[in-house]
Amino acid sequence: MFTSAYRLSDNEIYLMKKLEKVYNSQGCKINRWPEIYYANHDEFDNRHPFELEVRNGYFIDWEAIFITDYLGVYIYEYGKEGHIRIYKDRIEKCAKRISHALQIDFNEAIELLRIKVLLHELGHWFSLWLFKEQNDGIAQDRTYSLSKNVVESLAQLSIPWSIQGLNNKNVKGIKQLFDWIVPKQPYEYRKFRDINVKTSHKATILKRYKAILNDPNKDIDYLLNGK
Ligand SMILES: [Zn+2]
Repeated sequence: MFTSAYRLSDNEIYLMKKLEKVYNSQGCKINRWPEIYYANHDEFDNRHPFELEVRNGYFIDWEAIFITDYLGVYIYEYGKEGHIRIYKDRIEKCAKRISHALQIDFNEAIELLRIKVLLHELGHWFSLWLFKEQNDGIAQDRTYSLSKNVVESLAQLSIPWSIQGLNNKNVKGIKQLFDWIVPKQPYEYRKFRDINVKTSHKATILKRYKAILNDPNKDIDYLLNGK
């Protein structure tokens, strides 16, 4: 049951529009943004793949509280647009750790972490839903057979892509948090750092992603190296 719609801040809207521009340059036009919900984890129906992976011990070597998709999730329902959830209780628990580690105010840590999670999950929405929807010729069912490496790389890139060229206090905070939390996340969430072009080469990266969507033989290596 959804109890609460997520209310976007000015900062979030600004960064979302920057991310929109990146995908827009590759032919993705947004008519409507996805639904976003904000509530404690147990208030949702949690029978989705990521929670099953957590329960099955897939992330046993990692502290789940630092994994972005544990803090929020993009629920993609086969053939449908899906929606984004951000988990209030988990965000607060993680923000406590961040506040302590980075010596920042607890409420500031919550704000920064929510932005990080929101942009990551929006990255899933853009790459798994909108990109496919608006590109003729992309194999329709390939989206759901992509490797976790590819899927999480695209989502993580949303953060550098959204803050690129900005240097205000909020962005500095996001960058600091991102640099701190990524090394605490599983392998698939760190892969994007191995891409052989700068993250600012957005068109190159998205063209490689499009090629992956069209070719079952292409995977993370193609995203990283273009071959
Ligand atoms: Zn993710």
